[in-house]
Amino acid sequence: MARKIDELARITNLRAVPKDGLFGSPFAAGNLDGFLVKAGYTRLGNQAVTAYRVRFKANTWAGDVEMLREAAAGSEALKEALGRKKVPGTLVKALVLEPDALVLNLTYSFVSPRPAKVAAILKALVGLARTFASPIGTACESCGSEAGARVFLADQVPVSVCAGCRSTQDAEAVRQEEDYRRMDSNPFLGLVYGAATAAVLALAWAGVAYAVDRIFAYAAILMGSAIAWMVNRGMGKINLQGRILTVVFTVASVMGGHYLFLLFAVARLKELPISFDLAMTVARVFPTVAFAESTGVLSFVFSLIGAGYVLYANRPPKFRKAFEPLGN
Ligand SMILES: [Zn+2]
Repeated sequence: MARKIDELARITNLRAVPKDGLFGSPFAAGNLDGFLVKAGYTRLGNQAVTAYRVRFKANTWAGDVEMLREAAAGSEALKEALGRKKVPGTLVKALVLEPDALVLNLTYSFVSPRPAKVAAILKALVGLARTFASPIGTACESCGSEAGARVFLADQVPVSVCAGCRSTQDAEAVRQEEDYRRMDSNPFLGLVYGAATAAVLALAWAGVAYAVDRIFAYAAILMGSAIAWMVNRGMGKINLQGRILTVVFTVASVMGGHYLFLLFAVARLKELPISFDLAMTVARVFPTVAFAESTGVLSFVFSLIGAGYVLYANRPPKFRKAFEPLGN
């Protein structure tokens, strides 16, 4: 894709931005006739798309998304760009209007559209933006100053900002970050919530497994995520301690549930009452038995996936934007 992006950047006179991180895609970005744009090939879920973002001066769009769609349906530039007599209804419906941007993700299958086509669509979208909204031009988007504003990628989105506003924004971000750091967390409540959830889920899981006589390894994902969520709820702000607690509780809950299931099953099979001796006997063979079958290993892995997912989703907020000069 990088070669296509290079070509797209060349045709449109934009900057080619290499892919960011493992899941990022390369794109072309910069100032196109006063609008700050970004276009490239990427994926949305399982769907391959060409993605377009045309940023205009915030809150200057006159009209609503219906008017935009009507204009898009009748746009000669768009028809020409697509090489069609009619703008497809799917494209018209896919147009999204944000307070400062016109956004389009256009799905394609098999063959990715040529850069020339992507460039033409992007230019047609800029044309549409021009009829409804004011361009950003070369002014700073925060203070309106014409002097010293430059185009940056702020978390991968092109913005025009001057040096003064950038340092003000940085200072503000640092302040928010410190406020967050000072926020209280309640490790004790997190511990109580996590332990209670882990115990209840272990019992419930064992109960269900006993009733139907099989272990549902997949349910462990839910157990892990529920425990992580509850530890989070209890703690308020999660920290390293909370993360460790979550993983410990999750493993304990799944292993505990597994153990209880085994204990109940042995008692039923041997027609024995549940006693301390029986519990000890089962505990001795449990490590061997639990991991002898794939379900034991699977539920262990799944529970960690569940907990990991929630921990990731509840990671501390990011305050500072990564500013990167785009150089145009
Ligand atoms: Zn400024």
